[in-house]
Amino acid sequence: MTEELLSKLHPDYALHCLERMVRINSIVGSEGQMAAYLQQELQALGLRPELHEVEPGRTNVYARLAGVGPGRRLNFNGHTDTVEVCAGWETDPFTPLIREGRLYGLGACDMKAGIACILALLKAFVESGHPFHGELSFSAVVDEEGHSKGAQTMMTTDLAACDAIVLAEPYPDDESKPTPLGITGKINYELTVKGHSAHAFHPEDGINAIEEGARILAALDRLPMREHPDFGRGNYSTLKIEGGYRVYSAVVADRCRIEINRLLVPGETAASAIADMETLVRSLGLRAEVEVALKPPRYEPYVVSPEEPIIRLFDDVYREVMGRAPIYEYCKGITDANVFAEQGIPCLHLGPPRGNIHQPKRICPRRVAGPHRAHVRPPGSPVPGRPLKAAAWFAQGERPARGP
Ligand SMILES: [Zn+2]
Repeated sequence: MTEELLSKLHPDYALHCLERMVRINSIVGSEGQMAAYLQQELQALGLRPELHEVEPGRTNVYARLAGVGPGRRLNFNGHTDTVEVCAGWETDPFTPLIREGRLYGLGACDMKAGIACILALLKAFVESGHPFHGELSFSAVVDEEGHSKGAQTMMTTDLAACDAIVLAEPYPDDESKPTPLGITGKINYELTVKGHSAHAFHPEDGINAIEEGARILAALDRLPMREHPDFGRGNYSTLKIEGGYRVYSAVVADRCRIEINRLLVPGETAASAIADMETLVRSLGLRAEVEVALKPPRYEPYVVSPEEPIIRLFDDVYREVMGRAPIYEYCKGITDANVFAEQGIPCLHLGPPRGNIHQPKRICPRRVAGPHRAHVRPPGSPVPGRPLKAAAWFAQGERPARGP
């Protein structure tokens, strides 16, 4: 079945899809046209796309291929949004440009190339008509670069019951680090420091919220950051501090607001992070009242066991095709896997090698658009198409037991 499927993969089709998608401006918040394009493309493949509105004009798109009987349910996922156009582009970011085997364009790498590979996979399945058990589904979600609202909305559907999700995100690093087995979580602390105003010539009559807030910032290195054997420690970074007068006046500031990003490693949770901050604030003996809250987005850390069937399969395929064992890593970052994993769904990140993501001139090697070529290369060659082979996974056996 696998060989038959691979013979149906059309690199030109994937490249065509990628070019079409790069031409669509889908900067986070404006994913509507991408949904319309995917709807049209899926219909052309003979599938029945399901549109799921997350917010007005922001729509997730799902599609399914049903097997001939019960079995595992595997979802291939991508996000339709991109980051904004940053400074430094030398060409139009919405006009795909192929030069020296690489395709340049906004979102080419993160992650329209991954979506193009999934479309090629779906096309191959449809064209092969090979019977299988279980369900192969596709999800394209909005807002991954924002607050992951698309992934959260998807988790309110029956796709939350699938057995594994393959995110066709670009490689987290170079080809020696093909996939993460864990990703940090993150929270955004929002501290409101409430002081007491007074004339600035008599600060002793008031409580300066900015100065009290500064004492918190100066003590952040006392936050208890847990050591994780694979991740090491998380970290923190102050994102914002604001307070004081609106129109100049010599007044002791009675309010100060602080935002602090904190990465969490497994063993730390949003709840434990709040408790850490409250303990720290109490220990400082401040005169101001301090409210400790969280501001969205919030992601718990995510780890997938190497024993999960989807990871074992990936491991086998990687060894077979690449001729060496994959190197796994635990990395700092956030993807929609953090959201899916909260529902207990094992996730595999497996997409094309990446160039400069979130930077100008995003680079996507053209060969990602020709997945099946990889399988005619000798072992040891880069194989961007191996996620496709993973699609045969659910046909291998019974639906596995899932954890609670
Ligand atoms: Zn991405």
